Amino acid sequence: MKEVIIIGGGLAGSEAAYQIVKMGGRAIVLEMKPERFSPAHNLPTLSELVCSNSLKSESLENAAGVLKEEMRICGSLIIKAAEATRVPAGKTLAVDRKAFSEFVTEELKGLGVKIITGEVMAIPESRPLIIATGPLTSDAFAEEVQKLVGHDRLHFYDAVAPIVYKDSINMEKAFMASRYGKGGDDYINCPFTEEEYARFFEALRDADKVKPRGFEDGLYFERCMPIEVMAERGPKTLLFGPMRPVGLTDPRTGKRPFAVVQLRREDKEGGLYNIVGFQTRLTFPEQKKVFRLIPGLEAAEFARLGKLHRNSYIDSPRLLTNAQQLRKDPLILFAGQITGVEGYTESAASGMLAGINAFRLASGLLPVCPPPTTLTGALMRYVSDEGKRDFQPMNANMGLLPEAGAKKDRREAQARRALSDFKVWHDESLATSRGI
Ligand SMILES: Cc1cc2nc3c(=O)[nH]c(=O)nc-3n(C[C@H](O)[C@H](O)[C@H](O)COP(=O)(O)OP(=O)(O)OC[C@H]3O[C@@H](n4cnc5c(N)ncnc54)[C@H](O)[C@@H]3O)c2cc1C
Repeated sequence: MKEVIIIGGGLAGSEAAYQIVKMGGRAIVLEMKPERFSPAHNLPTLSELVCSNSLKSESLENAAGVLKEEMRICGSLIIKAAEATRVPAGKTLAVDRKAFSEFVTEELKGLGVKIITGEVMAIPESRPLIIATGPLTSDAFAEEVQKLVGHDRLHFYDAVAPIVYKDSINMEKAFMASRYGKGGDDYINCPFTEEEYARFFEALRDADKVKPRGFEDGLYFERCMPIEVMAERGPKTLLFGPMRPVGLTDPRTGKRPFAVVQLRREDKEGGLYNIVGFQTRLTFPEQKKVFRLIPGLEAAEFARLGKLHRNSYIDSPRLLTNAQQLRKDPLILFAGQITGVEGYTESAASGMLAGINAFRLASGLLPVCPPPTTLTGALMRYVSDEGKRDFQPMNANMGLLPEAGAKKDRREAQARRALSDFKVWHDESLATSRGI
């Protein structure tokens, strides 16, 4: 069987290599470390956790826990390494990052994965090929990726606004409407009185912000301006910007509110809403505190919080299938954060599926994707959804899953169904290629 070349030995690339060799295939990982390091990587070994040492919660009450459980069903290397090197952190799966990275490297070497170090500067001819060079893809290789996917289809920064679960928005206060009535009731609008706006503005101005890392200088000029930077220009700036009330009438008062925050639907199912224009660098605890001062969002649950950071990712909805193949060259697969999934576990899950599919393509089998009711399947569909405009990276969250059960135990029903469907998919679709 043909060997699969994987560019980038991070979380996605390492997991992909492991899945390939576990199924009986051969994999070669091309990794630029230790000859060359990105501004955030330091260790010479593979699968380096560049910031936090946590792979988030293991509880099945939340999406991170369910995603990890799906990965366990596929015998994930990243989960195995995390369990072998875990440090005490309650329900969180936290690890000793050096031991974790060494474990992954030794495991792959022990299974015969060839690791060739040095920066890759051009797309190799060999197929199948997996590109998993991550959010800090080297500049020279990023240029090659741009040539492959199109110059306007590789982004270097992301500026994401928080996303709220719709069922946590108080619709007694918020109302559905579009500005000037154009476009139907597409937006959820949160109306402010003058006093509510003053309180919100003060909290926003005084909140703690995350400091940009050295290599992130100049970020605001590249993409949209953070909401708190806009607020620094004076109390009226937001009223002429993302919080402008023009063209909106509150049906409860019959008047135009003093200010309005708009939320736009984020997913096909309508369970997630994005706070329009609220890209931010406030710390996560401050975002929850300040954004819950928005009328209607007092009890908001956040599926994703806002961020602004260096992140190379492709415009996957225009480029990839849900099996992570490049549509125009289906023997090239992309995996990890570069596809627009966000987070350590999400990147590894994406690598897992890319590895499974690269092996299948090398074996003359059709590629697969888990059903949309599973978190892996839902994430892959989110990033490859052709209908998606203004694509922004996404982490695993329950709002990506179709609804299940009654409101009070919806998350539990979604989790139960995700795991049961993933197990069935795994046993039925992967049995032959795993030689079970
Ligand atoms: C600064 C920063 C902090 C982050 N913090 C967190 C966090 O705390 N929690 C979280 O869940 N997520 C975090 N993320 C997001 C993301 O989860 C991680 O970046 C994750 O490591 C992505 O996995 P990956 O496999 O896609 O990329 P990576 O793990 O970065 O792996 C990519 C690999 O490709 C190599 N590479 C790059 N270019 C080339 C080339 N030309 N030739 C050969 N090799 C190359 C790199 O050296 C690297 O080893 C962070 C991202 C960044 C940038």
